[in-house]
Amino acid sequence: MKVLVVNAGSSSLKYQLFDTKDNSVIAKGICERIGIGGEITHKMAGREDYHKVVDMADHTEATKILIETLTDPAVGCIANMDEIEAVGHRIVHGGAYFSQSVLVNDDVIAKLELCRDLAPLHTGAHLMGLRGCIAAMPKTPQVLVFDTAFHQTMPDYAYTYPIPYEMAQQYQIRRYGAHGTSHRYVAGEMIKVLGKAEGTKIITCHLGNGSSISAVKDGKVIDTSMGFTPLEGLEMGTRCGTIDPAVVPFVMEKKGFTPAQMSDFMNKECGLLGVSGLSPDCRDLGDAVAAGNERAALAVNILTYQIKKYIGSYTAAMNGLDALVFTAGIGENRDEIRAAACRDLEYLGIKLDEEKNAQTHRPIGNVLISAPDSKVPVYVIPTNEELVIASDTEAIVRAL
Ligand code: ADP
Repeated sequence: MKVLVVNAGSSSLKYQLFDTKDNSVIAKGICERIGIGGEITHKMAGREDYHKVVDMADHTEATKILIETLTDPAVGCIANMDEIEAVGHRIVHGGAYFSQSVLVNDDVIAKLELCRDLAPLHTGAHLMGLRGCIAAMPKTPQVLVFDTAFHQTMPDYAYTYPIPYEMAQQYQIRRYGAHGTSHRYVAGEMIKVLGKAEGTKIITCHLGNGSSISAVKDGKVIDTSMGFTPLEGLEMGTRCGTIDPAVVPFVMEKKGFTPAQMSDFMNKECGLLGVSGLSPDCRDLGDAVAAGNERAALAVNILTYQIKKYIGSYTAAMNGLDALVFTAGIGENRDEIRAAACRDLEYLGIKLDEEKNAQTHRPIGNVLISAPDSKVPVYVIPTNEELVIASDTEAIVRAL
């Protein structure tokens, strides 16, 4: 089945056209500067990238241009849009409404509207992308795949914040988590290696520009580090992660920040960037650490110390650990961060093969990086959220 996977941002629309027969990517690309101009970059294996500047007033127009490009005899890859049998949309926040992927209908769109409050920028963009696709492909089934869905199995004591219960209910304030599609993919790959889901205890570390760690017991999430928003948990590229909540009003008062300015500050000026004063990117920080930069070292040390603490606390929460997984930009590529996070964890049964770990960057498949005598296998598993979206979309549409 040919499935178009769409990831709509506020001014962009990323896409991948999958053939689910062999899970190959036929083409992929991005529409950018939607609403303020417009350009499309379209990539196909074995061909030169195609780039065109073309007006896109909104996501409906971007979708039309995307379809024109896919069906263009010179640069495209399909004869007409009827060849696209289904569209799968990545949705950042499904609130407590969605615990799995769903076929779009009016009720689903109404519930997605209710999620606007929880992730205003993302949800607005998703709705525009979705409406653009429905307008351009009215007969093609559309499926939503949520970043929050995999985390919906958390018990109430893991997702409830200790604030007045009625207030939490009224404003839907609770832990939702994020990166669920990635955690689900790598946990699923790990479960294939272990040979079963039942009785297994896995920690999945999605470490990228945004980072989160999940505890997956019996194939289901029982806890995750991101919370009401993706701001909670680990130190990230530019997000502060968990800090004492009292710092928030303190800084607002000192700096005269409005709530929106404070939110911007915590999302864009903190984390690795804020501590190092240098860069949110671990590649830059790695170079700076090698050159003796102490603040870069501090920024990285905070992150690796936090990863280690999550591994310890989630092992305690699950009463054991059967496998540890690293994924995403940092998890797949930064061996020094994996090494530091796993150092001195032998008492938990975690021991890396230093050499194997140091050699593992941009792996194509799943790579075992733990030592032969490590009780807990440690894997680097390249994530593939788009493939999960394509597979879910196919499964739902086939069952119609
Ligand atoms: P996002 O959360 O935006 O998808 P990524 O998963 O790409 O981000 O992660 C970005 C982080 O991963 C950066 O800190 C970057 O240094 C690191 N990273 C990504 N790719 C590589 C690479 N090929 N080599 C080394 N580090 C990388």
